[in-house]
Amino acid sequence: MAVMTHASAHPTTVDYSNLPTTVQDAFDRYMRKADNAGTGDDYRDAMTDAAITAGIPVPASKDIARCSCLNDAGGCGCGAIFDAHTDGVVVTAPNAPNKNLSELQCPGCGHDHPRPIAD
Ligand SMILES: [Zn+2]
Ligand SMILES: [Zn+2]
Repeated sequence: MAVMTHASAHPTTVDYSNLPTTVQDAFDRYMRKADNAGTGDDYRDAMTDAAITAGIPVPASKDIARCSCLNDAGGCGCGAIFDAHTDGVVVTAPNAPNKNLSELQCPGCGHDHPRPIAD
């Protein structure tokens, strides 16, 4: 692990696409775990692990998401990993039954080209 020798600007978001494949795989695993977590600490533990794996500070909400633009048809390809409780986040798909995670757009995408849930 690198030692922080100065208070450098620690990114609060990273782009999934820029992460090494092994890190992406580990991140996916933790997010799947969070998605399927039941009651108890499993969800928060999985989210904490996912944030650490991605290299972003663990948000107080213990709730992170990857921008849905990465996989959406017509999405811009943004794969930002961010605090799911940030202002400006747009929900693009609700969580499926028995799943925890909704599809979200990061605040930048939510501002520039929101794709909110269509009724
Ligand atoms: Zn985005
Ligand atoms: Zn986008």
